Amino acid sequence: MHTLGWIGLGHMGAPMAMNLLQAGCKVNVYNRSREKTTPLTESGATRLNSPKEIVEQSDIIFMMLSDSNAVRAVLTQENGVLAAMRPGKVVVDMSTISPEDTMSFASMVSERGGVYLDAPVSGSVGVAKAGQLVIIAGGDQQTIEICQPYFNILGKKTIYFGSSGKGSSAKLAINLLLGVIGQGIGETLVFAEKSGLDKEKVLDMISQSALNTALFQGKKDMYRNEEFPSAFMVELMSKDLGLIKAEADRMNITLPLAEATNITYRSAKENGKAKLDMAAVYLELKEKNTR
Ligand code: NAD
Repeated sequence: MHTLGWIGLGHMGAPMAMNLLQAGCKVNVYNRSREKTTPLTESGATRLNSPKEIVEQSDIIFMMLSDSNAVRAVLTQENGVLAAMRPGKVVVDMSTISPEDTMSFASMVSERGGVYLDAPVSGSVGVAKAGQLVIIAGGDQQTIEICQPYFNILGKKTIYFGSSGKGSSAKLAINLLLGVIGQGIGETLVFAEKSGLDKEKVLDMISQSALNTALFQGKKDMYRNEEFPSAFMVELMSKDLGLIKAEADRMNITLPLAEATNITYRSAKENGKAKLDMAAVYLELKEKNTR
């Protein structure tokens, strides 16, 4: 069995690393703010002091970080991942970042003899805790096969999309749908409320219809109570919609809904909702329509 390293113990990274531990894997952990490692060390993980130490003492290094800036920092900082990179090491980046950055990070790792996979995930915190994520993979296929036993602990399915960056592209594609659906639910609820309909009955109507989803059920209480404790923060959804816009521009394609959702989530972020769950886009739409 490999020794695993885990860098980034946020909303997603913590339950994912915990699942590996609970499945009996040996896991070294690092997080920028140290206190987040405590629940993991209490469950048997070894806390190390830098990404460099994680690479030195692990065979497969998972990263679950906010964005490209975080991944770049963890790779290139003084005690970063690249400082200890050598042949035989595998970096599995599960963060959602752009395909372009993915390819550039993969080259940095391969120049030092390592292998870098992009393996972002679909599914939020509850799904991560349940080990039911969908792993969306790109990069060297043989290395993905080596990682497959660990992906099987973290998720219910791994879908391989091809060369480096293809996992990141696929992740952006599904998050485009997520952003649009999130805004769609928000607009539906605002429309219904402005029409004088009872919110509880509207939530029930959606739940009973063909438009019911696991996503909707997961967030129904947030809409009901207008409280949005974060599973997937507005600022991360906005980051992804910005990446989607950049990719669409690069490919010279027009996506009207992507444009619209990008604007709405960005305004939610700028209007004090950055740390709330993405469902708070409903609140943003509601506030915009209060008059
Ligand atoms: P989070 O904000 O809860 O955690 C981010 C992690 O990145 C933290 O551990 C933080 O310490 C680390 N980090 C940030 N900047 C850093 C830096 N400069 N140096 C070192 N560490 C740094 O985010 P999350 O919700 O766990 O999401 C992580 C990634 O997974 C994001 O790319 C997100 O888009 C993606 N994602 C999130 C969800 C979700 O539902 N939360 C679902 C699927 C994918």
